[in-house]
Parts: sequence; structure tokens; C-alpha cells
Amino acid sequence: MTEKMYPVELVAPDIEAYRKGNTGVDFVTTFDSGDPGPHVMINAVTHGNEICGAIALDYLFKANVKPVRGKLTLGFVNYQAFLNFDINDPGESRLVDEDFNRVWLEERLDGDEDTVELQRARELRPIFDTVDYLLDIHSLSTYSEALTICHGLDKEKEFAKKVNYPGYIMCGSGHVIGRRLIEYTPFNDATNDKVALLVECGQHWAAESGAIALDTALHFLRAAESVSPEFINQHLSEGAKNPAKVQMWEVVDGIYSKTDDFTYAEEYIGMEVIPESGTVFARDGAEEIRTPHDGCLLMMPNYKPGANMRKVRLCKRLG
Ligand SMILES: [Zn+2]
Repeated sequence: MTEKMYPVELVAPDIEAYRKGNTGVDFVTTFDSGDPGPHVMINAVTHGNEICGAIALDYLFKANVKPVRGKLTLGFVNYQAFLNFDINDPGESRLVDEDFNRVWLEERLDGDEDTVELQRARELRPIFDTVDYLLDIHSLSTYSEALTICHGLDKEKEFAKKVNYPGYIMCGSGHVIGRRLIEYTPFNDATNDKVALLVECGQHWAAESGAIALDTALHFLRAAESVSPEFINQHLSEGAKNPAKVQMWEVVDGIYSKTDDFTYAEEYIGMEVIPESGTVFARDGAEEIRTPHDGCLLMMPNYKPGANMRKVRLCKRLG
């Protein structure tokens, strides 16, 4: 199975007006209410091809969003990658030198390697060090339903339930190599109250992903009590005003391909639930890959060809 081409329905906004900001770090702006309260941050374009977050931030800037307590920071994270976005080759702008969402290990941040993403991470790190609630906006490679990802600490689950949007909270390490921003040390510490969540808003360039990114940002600001309820109600889309209670799932395994001949039993887009344990859902060369338990959810199937690729995550319902 090969990767499909998806139409680009979203328009990448011009973010040049946000370059200077007011923090001394390009493309990062902080609004300070002057009153005590949490420092909330919303990130766009951690991956440069995932333009829905940039659309949400551009909207919030233009709607004149302001915190009613604490501080609110809006940041275009990997703007160098995003500025390479090309509608004719939309996947190419994901990164410049490496995946920005894998560099969050102290030994890399403090080390002497030099990549565009490490330089940017070092610039942004002092800001992240002061953030209490971080929303990192991403999107997906298929037409999967939107989902929130957290590492799985109790404080994250509690806050994600308060956000209650989009419909799924997926808990677990994700079996990534390197470390994601949501697991950067200050966030991944059970002894403080800081929380970082990652949202996957739907297919990278599908029209609805832009709306989901904005609705998620608004629900996040509501949960953090950062912005007035009037502002939130005024800007939420109708369909996102009274969301059903979210489902919570645990990521129990990550399947990596061993061969370059990895195929799924069906053309899964993600979030399908396979009822029975032992069902063959994929083949890797001659090997059959089976569900390890009943009610197994397939999260984020990857259609990029090649061996040693993370192909899919397997999840079990928590509540
Ligand atoms: Zn991403």
C-alpha cells in the first residue's frame, strides 16, 4: 500500500505580521492580563506541513484574543519549515533538518549538535519552561477522526477531560524514538501541575481540520480559564459547543515494519476498533500481525513505505 495524495483544501496563512512578536523570540507573542493566573501557550506548526494550527492562531490574533488572568502565548514553532510550505508538494515542509517533535531530551538540547530544529528548540525552551498549560496543535496523514494525545500522567488525564474536545484522549508514550515536546521534562513531571497536550486535528489539509484546530484551542482556553467565556462562545463553531463526553484510550503497543512489504488487511484510516483478539489486521512480509486483545483500536496508520517505520499504534479503552 502506498501513500495517497490528499487535496489541499486549507490555505496556509501569511504569518509574516507575527514575526516580530514581543518576546524577543521570532513568531512568539505573549499577552499579559496583568493579573495572577497560569501561563497558557498554544503552538502551531511544530510540523511545518500541518497548517491547521497556523490557521487557528491567525484567527485568534485577528479576533483579538486576550487572557482574563495570567498570560497567553501564541507561537509558530517550526516557522522555518512552515515558510517552505508549497501547495504543489505539501508534505515536503514537515521539517528542515529533523523532526522538531523528537528533540526534547536534555542531552540534545544541552549538547553541541546543530540543526535548525535544535536551534529553534533552544530559543523556545526558556518560554516553555514558564508555561503551565501547553496545547501543541498537529494534524494527521489520513482522514482519521481528531484525537488528543497525552503521555498519561493523572494530571494530564484530568485536564484533558476538562478540555473534552475533540472526542478521543489517547494516553501513552506513543513508542516514539526521541522525545516529544509534551514529554519535555517540566511537563512530564508528576510533582508539578504543568500540563502539555498534543491535538491531532484530522487530515493535514482537509477543510475541517482548520475548524477543529480553532475549536480545540478555544476549549483548551476555556479549561484553563484563560479567556472569557463570552469570547469562547462567540468563536466556537456550532458543532463544537456541546461536545459529548470524550472517550479515553491507552496506547498499549506500537507496530514497526520489519520489511518494506507491510500491508493492512483493509484500508484503515485510524480509530477503527477491531472487536476480537487474534484478528489479522496487517501483514509484514510473511508475518501475520494480530490484535493483542478484544476491542483493539488502530491509531494513526502510516502508509509511508519502507522497513523500520512506525506503522500503527494499538490502543485499549480506559473509559
Ligand atoms: Zn505533527
